[in-house]
Amino acid sequence: MTNGTGAEVVVDLDAIAANTAVLRERVGRPLMAVVKADGYGHGLVPSARAALAGGADQLGVAVLAEALALRAAGVTAPLLAWLNGPGADLAAALAADVEVSVNAGWGLAEVVAAARETGRPARLHLFADTGLSREGATMADWPELVAAAARAQADGDLTVVGLWSHMAHADAPTHPTIGAQVRVFEEAVGIARAAGLTDARRHLANSAATVALPDTWFDMVRPGVAVYGLDPLGGDAADHGLRPAMTVQARVALTKRVPAGAGVSYGHTYTTPAETTLALVPVGYADGVPRAGGNAAPVLAAGAKRTIAGRVCMDQFVLDVGDAAVAPGDQVVLWGPGEGGEPTAQQWADATGTIHYELVTRIGGRFTRCYVGSAGAV
Ligand SMILES: *Cc1c(COP(=O)(O)O)cnc(C)c1O
Repeated sequence: MTNGTGAEVVVDLDAIAANTAVLRERVGRPLMAVVKADGYGHGLVPSARAALAGGADQLGVAVLAEALALRAAGVTAPLLAWLNGPGADLAAALAADVEVSVNAGWGLAEVVAAARETGRPARLHLFADTGLSREGATMADWPELVAAAARAQADGDLTVVGLWSHMAHADAPTHPTIGAQVRVFEEAVGIARAAGLTDARRHLANSAATVALPDTWFDMVRPGVAVYGLDPLGGDAADHGLRPAMTVQARVALTKRVPAGAGVSYGHTYTTPAETTLALVPVGYADGVPRAGGNAAPVLAAGAKRTIAGRVCMDQFVLDVGDAAVAPGDQVVLWGPGEGGEPTAQQWADATGTIHYELVTRIGGRFTRCYVGSAGAV
């Protein structure tokens, strides 16, 4: 499969499975692998299958469409879709045996209505805001939400299977908000248990907390980015026994000799210091290569790490490879595990002022995705 650019996102399914196994082994308790946002850009269904092959107990996605796509592909594992706005098709969720989450009374009412419509009791998670101020019911609203959920459970409309929250600073393991959030979470759990919601799993830990904060593990952990082998703490994934699953590569489309003083790409923000060879790489910001990578981001080309010369354009960028031998068709690696001298997504993130999460979830456009490894393959 080619579109003429040779631009590929290569995903190593065995790495996803191995990372999941490392994390699962480390925590010694159930693990929900988060596969939202098309498996963090690695492919929803193959990533989910690979994580399950690696020992994930459950899957988590943000929106219902992602959950239904997994079910349509034949993935039967327990599955939570947590970001449901008003009017979400909760009946479809319940019919497909998808667990849902609510954080407000109106959401609970919609779940109860869907349960009655379908005759299928919901498996529900209640989301507490313990300090992130994002999803989740505030502690002011929590007792009322819990009481309403307990009534609905007694009525047979649902079972509360999860009590959960999300961390603000897990990637800064000594931050004072961490202890504070854990304490608020325990308080929220206490309120729910006192209301009779005694069978729910407590889950709080994202990747960073899974790697660094055992006090946050409770009954289940919920890692995303670490499953794909990226270090949630922004360091070296290998320190945690993780291996990046994604390699992003393209092929040189054109080379040319130019004299010293040639202005390169829009705005001439790079000028050749000497006579040199330029290599054109046919991927750009329309494909998820950040424009901020101009004169900043590293790639592996012609046997060495080189910085992109001048601006990243919509469809292409340029490299100054000096006198290295390079020809059209030669491979250029933007990022990968780092084991073959190529940069890592973390190095790209550092160079472009973002986080690897954003890079891997946005890479796409004219890159084709292909898979290596066999974990979870059907
Ligand atoms: C995305 C997300 C996760 C996973 O986060 P990572 O940092 O990728 O591990 C877990 N829980 C919630 C609520 C999320 O939104």
